[in-house]
Amino acid sequence: MGMFPFLSLFSARGSVGFAHSEGFPMSEDMGSGFGDSSASVGNFGRRQSDFSRLRRTRSTAQKWLVVLLLLGAFVGVAAVFWAMGYVQASTLQALSGLVVAVPLVFLLLFRKQWNLKFREKRLKLPIVVCALASMLWLVYLDPAMQMLLVPFTFVTLAYGMYRISRNVAFLLALSVVVGYALVMAMHAFERGNPALLKLEFMHFLALAAALPGFVYLTGKVPLLHLVLNKASRKIRTIEADAQLDPLLCCYNRRYIVAALEEQKQLADETGQPLCIAIIDLDHFKRINDEMGHLGGDEVLRTFSRVAQQSVRDEDIFGRYGGEEFLLIFPGTSLLPALNTCERVRSQVETHPWGAAMRSRVSVSIGVTQYVQGESVLEFFSRADTATYLAKEGGRNQVVVEEPVDRRAAQKPDADDEARDGLGQDGEIDDDFSLVEEAGFIEERRSGGH
Ligand code: GH3
Ligand code: MG
Ligand code: MG
Repeated sequence: MGMFPFLSLFSARGSVGFAHSEGFPMSEDMGSGFGDSSASVGNFGRRQSDFSRLRRTRSTAQKWLVVLLLLGAFVGVAAVFWAMGYVQASTLQALSGLVVAVPLVFLLLFRKQWNLKFREKRLKLPIVVCALASMLWLVYLDPAMQMLLVPFTFVTLAYGMYRISRNVAFLLALSVVVGYALVMAMHAFERGNPALLKLEFMHFLALAAALPGFVYLTGKVPLLHLVLNKASRKIRTIEADAQLDPLLCCYNRRYIVAALEEQKQLADETGQPLCIAIIDLDHFKRINDEMGHLGGDEVLRTFSRVAQQSVRDEDIFGRYGGEEFLLIFPGTSLLPALNTCERVRSQVETHPWGAAMRSRVSVSIGVTQYVQGESVLEFFSRADTATYLAKEGGRNQVVVEEPVDRRAAQKPDADDEARDGLGQDGEIDDDFSLVEEAGFIEERRSGGH
């Protein structure tokens, strides 16, 4: 269970990156660079990841819809002009060809992931350049199309503003003005119509006067975008840190307790089995005495790594107290959970802990299965009882406390054997002392940090 993919998972979790607030459609596989990692740790995290993927897919569809609506508006107005007799049918055909061909070319680029070869992966600048050049070409084909040029030049520039710097936007605006002047010159040369020239000159003046102001005013958008992006990344890092134990690089108490609550609810809803294990390092005080507190920390760090390497990807591992850990097995019944616990125990036992260590490092593990409808407290305390029994039984062992079906147990003729098995106690101790300040966990035995 590697922790690093899992950090990136959290960086995306619960927060929509700025990639999603922008205007250009881009699916996840187009490589945004802000998306979450496909590698994830734990069922809990995976479901979050699915959720954010769903949101991203929806937002990609919305962005495509916006672009199609803009194109549709352009074509729609041109079609009205044509119906009114101001625009030729051939111009409308050329426009329709462009509207189909240009988006298809970009779609292909994204699908083939060729966009990833460029620094600006959303290809905003090429898209904007294509749109502006296409509009100028249409004006050249049909002077009536200039009615659309001015407003749609603003829309096109606004579309690219997130990703195009102010200087580049100024250059683009200048290119449009110069391009329009060229079109005017060609119209004057080819058509020799003074009335058209006058009209085009008025449009030219309006465009040349308004565009610099527009670019200047909207030029702050990329800067604002950058600042917000940085802030968003910081928040995501803080969020991820808030879920991790800084010393051991595993889930911290807050996260693991929340995950347990969540998994219990999930088990209630789906009827899927759920198991947990409490892992407690044996004689850790001794290890601290021998190695010093920093040495003890190092042992804890190594243990956390060894344990995470021993559990399955879907298992959730976290520290809930000093040298005590909780392992959650979502959708898992007792036997596979027991096998994993045994693997953790033996890996810890056989790990080469170094010649400097005189004490043996081992763990006692208590494992149990969730009984539908019971409280988290009952569930947890049964695992705690099992850990206690593992200590009593000589440490360095795994003890199972088999779940008791309370409804069956309440019947007068309930089969007492139901509570038998690997667990040596079997009775749920109603007198357990696991009421804790923040929720449901309190160390049963002395310890803690
Ligand atoms: P047992 O086998 O019964 O669990 O014995 P133990 O000594 O491990 O148990 P106990 O609960 O008595 O002591 C736990 C010790 O772990 C006491 C505490 O100082 C130490 N400890 C708790 N958290 C940390 C930590 O983060 N770093 C270090 N170095 N020591 C810790
Ligand atoms: Mg201990
Ligand atoms: Mg302890």
